[in-house]
Amino acid sequence: MNLPQNVIIREVGPRDGFQMEREFIPTDTKIEIVNALASAGIRLFEATSFVSPKAIPQLRDAAQVVAGINRVKGLEVGALVPNVRGAENAALAGVDEMVLLVSASESHNRGNVNQTIEESLRGFETMVKIASEARIAVRGAMSVVFGCPFEGDVAPDKVGQIVQRMMALGIKRITLSDTTGMATPPIIRRTCQFVMDKYPDLELSLHFHNTRGLGLVNVYECLNMGLNIFESSVAGLGGCPFAPGATGNVCTEDLVYLMDELGLESGIDLVELIKVAKKVEEIVGRELPGQVMKAGRRLDLHPLPTYMKK
Ligand code: ZN
Repeated sequence: MNLPQNVIIREVGPRDGFQMEREFIPTDTKIEIVNALASAGIRLFEATSFVSPKAIPQLRDAAQVVAGINRVKGLEVGALVPNVRGAENAALAGVDEMVLLVSASESHNRGNVNQTIEESLRGFETMVKIASEARIAVRGAMSVVFGCPFEGDVAPDKVGQIVQRMMALGIKRITLSDTTGMATPPIIRRTCQFVMDKYPDLELSLHFHNTRGLGLVNVYECLNMGLNIFESSVAGLGGCPFAPGATGNVCTEDLVYLMDELGLESGIDLVELIKVAKKVEEIVGRELPGQVMKAGRRLDLHPLPTYMKK
């Protein structure tokens, strides 16, 4: 079995996770978390979303968050841009990457942005232009690729058609998202293989939610297919405000733990990362789904219970 030697992890907790939090997280706290994650070795971030403050008040500080992030070497600050206005603001704020969002199913796209897929893709043209004029990279992120909560299975061909449209606009980085945790290994194999065969030059990344407990299983299936860029959330934060029953992303520490155990290089220090995860749990004020942050690594040994000591 040939697994990729290196894996790249993009942290999406500050966007996919924080957007679900009702209580406003102070801007400084958000920045502190991103900077701490960068200190632990994470280099790619989806740091925020340049969405209307009315739609998601939690992310109304997008520009300040971007401005506050320590730009250590190799760091890329990405942000979701839902429309032209968002793209203009993201360009002004100086993001490194704009993320354009479209769903693989009509119903989900309508629920998410109240547009048809065609309308969304046409809107991309202007946003790509804004990004390229500002010399900012663009990534396409496709939701509900491995199953839609309103329409069920999504045909790989449908995914391929949208990929093709994005590539025609010059977009070479694309994230396939399992927005509501409907992916399973066979579905992933079918869809990803189809896309990889058809578009071998694409930089493909994967975004899984752990809704049905298969997050890391799905990552492992992808590794076996040679895919090596994954999105995850510190402490397992996250969800999707527009999808019923959606729960957290694959947890970053749990993912890094798996990479460490497989001997794959992620450049991330798990011990440091766990410290950040615990801080995030304190910030949101409730238990988060991350598991390794609770149990520790498998060889973090415990003292013998006193009754066993002689
Ligand atoms: Zn997500």
